[in-house]
Amino acid sequence: MLTSFPADELYRQADRVRLEAVGNEVHLRGLIEFSNICRNDCLYCGLRRGNEKVKRYHMTEEEIIETATKAAEIGFETIVLQSGEDLYYNTKRMCRIIKEIKKLDVAVTLSIGERSPDEYKAFREAGADRYLMRIETTDRDLYHKLNPGMSWQHRYECLMTIKELGYELGSGIMVGLPGQTIESIADDLMFLKEIGVDMAGIGPFIPHQEPPLANEGGGNLELALRTMAAMRLLMPDINIPATTAMESLHPQGRIMALKAGANVVMPNVTEGEYRKLYALYPGKICVNDTPVHCRSCIGMKIQAIGRTIGKGKGSHRVLKVGSIN
Ligand code: SAH
Ligand code: SF4
Repeated sequence: MLTSFPADELYRQADRVRLEAVGNEVHLRGLIEFSNICRNDCLYCGLRRGNEKVKRYHMTEEEIIETATKAAEIGFETIVLQSGEDLYYNTKRMCRIIKEIKKLDVAVTLSIGERSPDEYKAFREAGADRYLMRIETTDRDLYHKLNPGMSWQHRYECLMTIKELGYELGSGIMVGLPGQTIESIADDLMFLKEIGVDMAGIGPFIPHQEPPLANEGGGNLELALRTMAAMRLLMPDINIPATTAMESLHPQGRIMALKAGANVVMPNVTEGEYRKLYALYPGKICVNDTPVHCRSCIGMKIQAIGRTIGKGKGSHRVLKVGSIN
């Protein structure tokens, strides 16, 4: 299915299952990239500690809250706070930010990497609803090669803690990593099903211009779309985003994804220069746009393919077994 099954047919089936299981709505999440400072050195990532060419920033608490307020004003009902692993945002600071944003009557998703169980608990108690952390790959050897100093087991345990604390759990993988096999991508999908994700994203790996992976081939859009479509067939009712990395490989990448199983889009609501500086990979889309522009641009694209913008917070709704043919 990931390589030889006719792609058009796979996408059609995923689209059908998506419609039956989660309907026609596309849920929007406003993404705030609040810090590009990171203690880790993931070889694939432009923000890794060792990349000295990055101009580093972190937004102030006030800036983050103001950005979230504006996003809520233009209609976002979920705010995603994403950053490198930046410990300036300690428990106290994060909790203050979460509590303020929750006053806007939005769902709050955190995507700030690996923290201690006590911190996850404190963030949850402060009001965070969801947590997004990709496992990246289930090939342990590959993970350890690409993430020096990190432990796959530890990342897995973080995901389990997050789930036990009652967050909606988001995870996912990259496809096209150097050394990654199709078999391991299939294992990744089974893993995501086993841990019971509420949301999962598939992103094509896009090589960064800075070494060490600058000359690697990277992922292609078709493999990412195929993987995502297969995931929809495996997990009919979860939330699946059309990822920004897909659109960075093709101007219609997110629309293609929405027609092949996806039901979520996460437009960037970060403002000004910060958008450019949060460069996980090169060629990231919309770095010169404004939140209002991005919201209306994706809104029009969604409506043009006959879909509607989701109302409400767009939480994962579990379907009863056997309700899809
Ligand atoms: N620091 C947090 C969140 C920010 S990184 C974390 O690592 O969980 C968000 C995601 O960006 C990562 O999970 C990874 O899947 C993706 N990413 C990083 N570098 C990338 C690249 N070169 N191409 C495509 N996606 C990339
Ligand atoms: Fe840091 Fe996340 Fe990039 Fe790894 S992927 S270097 S943890 S921002």
